[in-house]
Amino acid sequence: MLVTGIEILQDAHKNNYAVGAFNVNNMEIVQAIIEAAEETNSPVILQASQGGLKYAGVEYIAALGKLAAEKAKVPVALHLDHGTDFDQVMLCIRHGFSSVMIDGSRFELEGNIAITKKVIEVAHAVGVSVEAELGKIGGTEDDIVVDERDATFTDPKEAKKFVEETNVDYLAIAVGTAHGVYKGEPKLDFERIKTIKEMVNIPLVLHGSSGVPKEAIEKAVSLGINKINIDTDLRMAFSNAIKDFLKENPDNIDPRKILGPAKEAMKEIIKEKMELFGSAGRA
Ligand SMILES: [Zn+2]
Repeated sequence: MLVTGIEILQDAHKNNYAVGAFNVNNMEIVQAIIEAAEETNSPVILQASQGGLKYAGVEYIAALGKLAAEKAKVPVALHLDHGTDFDQVMLCIRHGFSSVMIDGSRFELEGNIAITKKVIEVAHAVGVSVEAELGKIGGTEDDIVVDERDATFTDPKEAKKFVEETNVDYLAIAVGTAHGVYKGEPKLDFERIKTIKEMVNIPLVLHGSSGVPKEAIEKAVSLGINKINIDTDLRMAFSNAIKDFLKENPDNIDPRKILGPAKEAMKEIIKEKMELFGSAGRA
């Protein structure tokens, strides 16, 4: 069933586990995520970035997501990842997304608060939950590029003020992860996660979580991370499976034969994540 993001994340917050939010761009990815969620009995968040919406079209993504949620035996939320534009966020709400992110991290604190409040006023009126971002997460997410030097960690005092003033449902924090493929091993600021959690007491979101070591993920979850975004790991599983298949079967031209193994490869990764995050068995 389709549920709001906060319905899923409030339980995760209360019971100290995290739910995976996986980026979708086509039918095979949606199916891989839903099958993994059903097989592990896990709640799940399907999310689409602005780039994903541009690629597939908001109508296609919304229809795929809602159909998948309707048919699923587990709770599913449909979420907009990194909405930077008010109109785009409204479009997603109109098309039935049950959760949206307004990323105002390019603004100073007051500007970020202002745009977040504006989105929340509308979203909450129609029962859609909202994620915001405070601090700047480094790396490249579609057309959003944040240079490593411009990435800034979330200030706990600002986080408290931000949450009090906006009434945001869940907050993405910058604590050392980055979007894309890591060059070295990411170093997470665990003390900062703990402090922010104590000060805001709402579900916290970790972006750029592909490639973060298992132990670091477990610790981050134990300290209060409740939503974990995964995109790069799925991309790698998808493309590696296709490369392998075509290497062994260079003359195969059947899209089903080519994409089938990619779907299975993604599903295996997603199931592992669900076990690691602690959402398995929570649906
Ligand atoms: Zn992100």
